[in-house]
Amino acid sequence: MSTLFVRTLREDPADAEVASHKLLVRAGYIRRAAPGIYSWLPLGLRVLGKVEGIIREEMAAIGSQEVHFPALLPREPYEATGRWTEYGDGIFRLKDRKGDDYLLGPTHEEMFTLLVKDLYGSYKDLPLSIYQIQTKYRDEARPRAGLLRGREFIMKDSYSFDVTDEGLEKSYAAHRAAYVKIFDRLGFEYVIVSAHSGAMGGSASEEFLAKTDVGEDTYVECKACGYAANVEAVHVPVPEALPYDDAPAAHAEDTPDTPTIDTLVAHLNAHFPREDRQWTGADTLKNVLGVVTYPDGRQERLAIGVPGDREVDAKRLEAALYPGEFEPMDEATLKSHPDLVRGYIGPEVLGEESKTGIRYLVDPRVVEGSRWVSGANVAGQHSIDLVAGRDFSADGVIEAAEVRPGDPCPNGDGELTAARGMEMGHVFALGRKFADALDLKVLDENGKLVTVTMGSYGVGVTRAVAAVAEYNNDDLGLAWPRNVAPYDIHLVATGKDSAVFEAAAKLAEELEAAGIDVLYDDRPKVSPGVKFKDAELIGVPTIVTVGKGLVEGKVEVKDRHSGERTEVALADAVGHLT
Ligand code: ATP
Ligand code: MG
Ligand code: MG
Ligand code: MG
Repeated sequence: MSTLFVRTLREDPADAEVASHKLLVRAGYIRRAAPGIYSWLPLGLRVLGKVEGIIREEMAAIGSQEVHFPALLPREPYEATGRWTEYGDGIFRLKDRKGDDYLLGPTHEEMFTLLVKDLYGSYKDLPLSIYQIQTKYRDEARPRAGLLRGREFIMKDSYSFDVTDEGLEKSYAAHRAAYVKIFDRLGFEYVIVSAHSGAMGGSASEEFLAKTDVGEDTYVECKACGYAANVEAVHVPVPEALPYDDAPAAHAEDTPDTPTIDTLVAHLNAHFPREDRQWTGADTLKNVLGVVTYPDGRQERLAIGVPGDREVDAKRLEAALYPGEFEPMDEATLKSHPDLVRGYIGPEVLGEESKTGIRYLVDPRVVEGSRWVSGANVAGQHSIDLVAGRDFSADGVIEAAEVRPGDPCPNGDGELTAARGMEMGHVFALGRKFADALDLKVLDENGKLVTVTMGSYGVGVTRAVAAVAEYNNDDLGLAWPRNVAPYDIHLVATGKDSAVFEAAAKLAEELEAAGIDVLYDDRPKVSPGVKFKDAELIGVPTIVTVGKGLVEGKVEVKDRHSGERTEVALADAVGHLT
């Protein structure tokens, strides 16, 4: 500890709301570099390494091989699949000195597809499963909660390549099973929710949601049979006919005139008071489409969410919101207009508070078909994935949720109740969308070229570190489970007696020799109180103290989780602790 690069803090960081964020910063695991961007200190890296280790073991167990792609990626492959534009404000774009476009990878379907196309050409080469543990970049609308939603974060992303649909089914099942093992080993309480709609035609997508109130997903579950589904994201295929090519290249700038969900809600309460309660951002919204003319003559097409469960005069509402004239317009007319559509949505259908108040810009092609428009209303923050995230990669479009809390369970008599979760992993049977777009074909048994079918599977690695911390802490600090703890034993030497320090140093050496990782607090001038506080805060599962008891040849062993203390003879300590 006297040389370890760490500074513990007594105060919570001002910007931290959730326990994992507060404690990981206070205990010296991470430091904020910019919003949603963190530096990792030695303690943090050790935990990260352990979590990655668990993931690597389970990936190896299903025969997936590790590769590593760059984070700095060329525009062309993303152009070919339409995602360069579709990501909207959700990705970081940059130019090189020649003016060529690059992006920082938010997810790597394109690159994996092209690599396999580059090297493989026959059905004999497949099936193949490859993965990487890599830094991803997404310009999230609301980075929050420390590592839980970052703009730079680490993901384990795997991709499977098969010739047949049955092959894909097997690859998908293998990944799903591996994820069950990973999340069991990380000690999560989680639920696997279906995130797909019947309309998807055979492809499947499921999310692993850690049950936690700090999560941003809402799902419904049936206590009777275990059925669970995410109410926020239901994916349907992107219609082939969308006019991708003539879509506008850039998204409109936000203007200060643009009301947020908060101003919308404030106006609702001021102009359309409800009798039963206040409006919140969580009220179901439906879009009113139209054109606003600003005082300076500028016009803008809008899709504006208004509460769907009450009669609200949209024109009056928009007049209250905009310093201009709002002309509602039917969808077909609006769609035919080449300009961007500007939209606002509520954060979600359910829940009590407006947490995110996301506003988004979409271009007209995603308004194609009323589906998306209604989906955006219900999908809440997940419609951001539409434009910004990996969710888009699979099926592109989010449809209105098919299930709501209070609905009967599709399997029987049970009732669906709502709960909160945080998406830890996602398994996707992509099908042939990416292989089609990037022309990944192999020769089949008859020498005929066939398109490969793919799956894509993600685990949030840095999010997992935060989630483990979220589940394992108390008033004193972190309390890591043994398999991801930065060290096995935190050894504290107290007092000024040099015999104590000598005995502790020797014990540390012997434990290390026995294969135990020891964090030895050898700081000579730090009080026992401070040392104990630091040990509790850092959260190593076993705290061993060499101090006053040494005169009787005893050391104290404390379990960080239970608080239970035992006296052990120094001579037996190594045996006791290994
Ligand atoms: P979310 O719904 O939370 O935004 P996502 O659906 O956009 O996540 P995917 O594209 O499915 O995420 O990526 C795979 C995994 O990466 C997710 O299951 C999640 O664990 C993790 N992840 C996604 N976005 C972030 C982020 N901003 N910060 C940390 N981890 C993330
Ligand atoms: Mg997302
Ligand atoms: Mg996802
Ligand atoms: Mg998601």
